[in-house]
Amino acid sequence: MRLHWHRTDLRPSDNLALVTPAEDPILPVYVFDPRILSHAAPPRVAFVLDSLDALRDWYRQRESDLVVVRGRAPDELARLADDYDADSVSWAQAYSGLGRRRDDRVEERLAGMGVDAHVVHDHLHHEPGSITTNQGEPYSVYSYFWKKWQDREKRGSVQAPGADRLAAPDEDTPIPTLDDLGFDEPEAEIPPGGYMEARHRLNDFCAEDIYRYDDARDDPAADATSRLSAHLTHGTVGVRTLHDRVVRAREGAPDDAARESVETFRGELAWREFYHHVLYFNPEVVTENYRDYEHPIEWREDPDALRAWQDGETGYPIVDAGMRQLRREAWMHNRVRMIVASFLTKDLLLDWREGYDWFRQKLVDHNPANDNGGWQWAASTGTDAQPYFRIFNPMTQGERHDPDAEYIKRYVPELRGVDADLIHDWHELSPTQRRRTAPEYPDPIVDHSERREQALAMFERARGEDGD
Ligand SMILES: Cc1cc2nc3c(=O)[nH]c(=O)nc-3n(C[C@H](O)[C@H](O)[C@H](O)COP(=O)(O)OP(=O)(O)OC[C@H]3O[C@@H](n4cnc5c(N)ncnc54)[C@H](O)[C@@H]3O)c2cc1C
Repeated sequence: MRLHWHRTDLRPSDNLALVTPAEDPILPVYVFDPRILSHAAPPRVAFVLDSLDALRDWYRQRESDLVVVRGRAPDELARLADDYDADSVSWAQAYSGLGRRRDDRVEERLAGMGVDAHVVHDHLHHEPGSITTNQGEPYSVYSYFWKKWQDREKRGSVQAPGADRLAAPDEDTPIPTLDDLGFDEPEAEIPPGGYMEARHRLNDFCAEDIYRYDDARDDPAADATSRLSAHLTHGTVGVRTLHDRVVRAREGAPDDAARESVETFRGELAWREFYHHVLYFNPEVVTENYRDYEHPIEWREDPDALRAWQDGETGYPIVDAGMRQLRREAWMHNRVRMIVASFLTKDLLLDWREGYDWFRQKLVDHNPANDNGGWQWAASTGTDAQPYFRIFNPMTQGERHDPDAEYIKRYVPELRGVDADLIHDWHELSPTQRRRTAPEYPDPIVDHSERREQALAMFERARGEDGD
C-alpha cells in the first residue's frame, strides 16, 4: 500500500506524484495541518474545500475515497501509514521554505518507521537547478531564463490512475467546513474550485482568448486573461495538461499574430517557474528584500494610508478599482496588481511586506513565489525588478490601460456617471469640481508628483547617494 498525500495537487490526472511509482495500490490522503493553516486565509481555504469535494467524488466513483484528517502532518501521516500498513508515502515537491521544512519533518518521521517517502517534482516543468546560467547559477534575469525555458522539451500530461490501482479506506472522513477549521466566510465571492472547473476554464481560454492575449492582456476591462491562477496555485490543473493544450492552440492558430499571442502566454507560464526557482534558492525572500541596498529603505508607517489603500479609498481611481476588485472577487488583474503595488510602495512609501500580507489574506491565487515576485518587482527590491527611478504614474496608467474607465466604473460605483476624462484627471480637479462631479468619491490622499520625488530621495538614500 502507498499513501498519496495530496497538497497543492488537487486533481486526479496529470499528477506525477500520484502515479509514481506504479506498483502499489494507492490510498489518497489530505491533511489539514494547523501550522500550515495558520498561514492560510478564507478565500484560499474555501477554494481548497470546493476542490477537495470534487476530488473526493472522483475517488468515490472508483470505489475508493479520500481520507481527510486534521492534525500535524508528521503525526497524521505516521498514524495512517501505521493503520494501513503502508510501505511508502508519495507527494509532490514543495518549493517554499515553510513547505520544505514541513516535508523534511514528515520524511524524518516516516524514515524512523521504515516507511519510504517518494517525493516527485510535479508543479513545474523544469525543477529548480535545471535551468541555470552557463556557470550553473540560478538566473536572476528573466529574459535569459525564458530563452532556455522556451526551447526546453516539456514532458506531456500523464493519465489518472485506473480504478484498479486505488485502495479503499476503512473509515469515512468528512471534509470539514470553513467554520470547523476556524475560518470566517470569505468577504469575496470565491470562484468555483475543482479539477473539472479548471479543465473547462482552460478549454474556454484556449478556444478564443489566448489568440488575443497579446493585445488584450493589459486591458483589465477586457477580462481576456485565463484566470487559471487559482487552479495553478492549488494544482487543480497540471502544468503538463495546461502546456499540451496551449501547444495545441498554437498549432491551430489562424495566423502569425495569433501564434505570437500564444507565445506571450507561454512567457507568463515561464514567469511562474522563474519565481518558483527564485523562491527555492532564496526562501528568505518571503520576509527579506532579495536585493540589498547599502542602507535600509526608510519605509514609512502610516496606518491611515494603508487602510485607505486596502479599502480602495485613495482617490486614485485605477488603484481603488483594483483594491475593490480584490475584496469582491479575491482576484485582481495583473496590470492593476502592478499599479496598486507601485502605489503602495512608491506613492504611499509603505513597505512592500504590508501589501504582500494583505494580498496573502485576500487573494484566492496567493502563492509565495508569484506573490513575492510581484511585490518585490514593484518595490524595486526583487530579481529583475522595476528600476527604482521608474515610478508608475497611476493616472497615466489608468488612462492608458482603461481609457474609457470601463474597469474603474465596474468597481467604483461613485464614478459611474462621470466622464472618463474627468476620472483620469481626478487629481487635477479642484476640490469644488470634485464635489460637484462625484460627491461620494474621495480626494486623492497624496500628491503623486510630490511622492514621486520623495520616493526617489528615499531610494537614493538607501543606495548611499544622498550626498552625505
Ligand atoms: C504585486 C503582485 C502580486 C501577485 N501575486 C500573485 C499571486 O499571489 N499568485 C499568482 O498566481 N500570481 C500573482 N501575481 C502574478 C499575476 O498577477 C497573476 O498570476 C495573474 O494576474 C493571474 O491571472 P490569470 O491566471 O488570468 O493570468 P494569465 O495572464 O492568464 O497568466 C497565466 C498564468 O501565468 C502565471 N503568471 C501570469 N503572470 C505572472 C507573473 N507576473 N508572475 C508570475 N506568474 C505569472 C500565473 O500562474 C497565471 O495564472 C502577482 C503579480 C503582482 C504584480
